[in-house]
Amino acid sequence: MDNHIARRRFGQNFLSDPNIINRIIGAIHPRPGENMVEIGPGLGALTTPLIDALGHLHVIEIDRDLIARLRQRHTPSELTIHEGDALAFDFGTLGATPGDLRVVGNLPYNISTPILFHLAGFAEKLRDMTFMLQKEVVMRMVAQPGTGEYGRLSVMLQYRFRMGWLFDVPPEAFRPAPKVTSSIVRLAPRSPAECTARDEVLFGKIVTAAFGQRRKTLRNTLKDYLDDADFKTLGLDPGERGERLAVARFIEIANHCAARKHGAESPSSSISG
Ligand code: SAM
Repeated sequence: MDNHIARRRFGQNFLSDPNIINRIIGAIHPRPGENMVEIGPGLGALTTPLIDALGHLHVIEIDRDLIARLRQRHTPSELTIHEGDALAFDFGTLGATPGDLRVVGNLPYNISTPILFHLAGFAEKLRDMTFMLQKEVVMRMVAQPGTGEYGRLSVMLQYRFRMGWLFDVPPEAFRPAPKVTSSIVRLAPRSPAECTARDEVLFGKIVTAAFGQRRKTLRNTLKDYLDDADFKTLGLDPGERGERLAVARFIEIANHCAARKHGAESPSSSISG
């Protein structure tokens, strides 16, 4: 690594193990001409091999010192640098073809959950996303009902994306080494036909409420949404906990409430963190 001093406030841990870098590039499998954006290129561990394979890459970087280095190393024809916060970035501006944008990144840990929710809002633009995150976050993303890791993050992301854990990356692969193990995860958007919550805002509120107090039963956590008759109609045990309900069950609950709330009104759509 060169003389850049890693900034903790930007979650900077730079990949330095060439074998791991190769493995990640292999998992991304970049092809010439693809429309790809890397979040947080840092010192360029993934950036340079991605440019070599693609011909052109977009990056979003918040650290001005790192941006200056990237500008020195790459020409504007091969690298488009978007300076600023990825959480405020409009991914809708990248590329004209819906469903072709690929997003990759060794994500800064401090923004990993909000950036996933932010990107969920651009699902129709995306082909796939391959990220390195803390292993603990990836386990929560892909968790199944009835496990300790299953929660709001699992339901909200599994509603929108198919997801899979690919492999782990040990702390020694980075400079400086983080305290925890990381994992590579891939997300691909589900088709709109699969995302069947009639009111996605209401769906999000119900999921948030169900996991708000983990130890409490649905009778308690969903009392603003469901009464005894609703539990009966839905065939749902009021003594159950949110952590045992599959994503499809949350959709049923939300659609039941939406039908009552909206009647014939048009549904609303968007998922926010
Ligand atoms: N990709 C490089 C690597 O693998 O070695 C760096 C990864 S480092 C974990 C995270 C990178 O994201 C840093 O370059 C950091 O400056 C950048 N970053 C942090 N917060 C950001 C934000 N809100 N928006 C865009 N980039 C951010």
